[in-house]
Amino acid sequence: MPLNAASSANPLALLGGTFDPVHFGHLRIASETGAALKLPEVRLIPSKTPVHRARPGASESQRLAMLRLAVADVPGLAADDRELKRETPSYTVLTLESLRAEFPQRPLIWLIGIDAFMHINHWYEWPRLFELAHFVVLNRPGFAVSQALSPVLSEVWQGRLTRSAEALVETTHGSIYLHTVTPQAISATEIRNTIAAGAADSALESLLPAPVLAYIRAHQLYIGEPRTT
Ligand code: ATP
Repeated sequence: MPLNAASSANPLALLGGTFDPVHFGHLRIASETGAALKLPEVRLIPSKTPVHRARPGASESQRLAMLRLAVADVPGLAADDRELKRETPSYTVLTLESLRAEFPQRPLIWLIGIDAFMHINHWYEWPRLFELAHFVVLNRPGFAVSQALSPVLSEVWQGRLTRSAEALVETTHGSIYLHTVTPQAISATEIRNTIAAGAADSALESLLPAPVLAYIRAHQLYIGEPRTT
């Protein structure tokens, strides 16, 4: 859908995840991509019932509380709790539909790590995702961008890939753009496992913001959890 030439683009970027817990990997890719692509607003959207993965360790309200602490002092980042408030499962297509209804004219830009993008063809009603938003695919240590995509996803990739960041604001949806961020070898799984193993704060401080770590300690989260990987 081309934008009306008279309307200002005002793109809205989104990063969905379980954020169990939110960490510097999430925050840095969101801030860095927002700055590089001149995206004024990046919303982090915690998922309700995880559809594609094991149950998270912290409750929904705890994950949201940690996310709010993490973005509190970061310009351009915000938490959006629409998936937690919704009755339906956290299907991204429904989230994008609700955003599209709210913002008919704004380019919607879904930021996603290559690890998650590789499986997007298993998401609920996935072809419609590209009728609602652009997808900016980000590198992540341990996952090669050249890694084999399934044939059906490879076809979508070839058809929609753009090398022009302008395409993301000149139209409201439909493109895939590959963006390289500073590699962040951080995962929530590693953080949960490190805490479960009894690590001291000094082993965690480089992985997530101090207020989030303080919240985890105050609520005794992730202690004694079985390792999932
Ligand atoms: P877990 O280890 O529990 O699977 P996670 O660290 O992968 O969690 P998610 O909440 O699942 O975090 O990630 C949300 C989104 O952020 C996904 O698109 C994921 O690819 C991306 N992401 C998370 N961490 C990184 C990272 N270190 N580098 C690049 N992308 C990341």
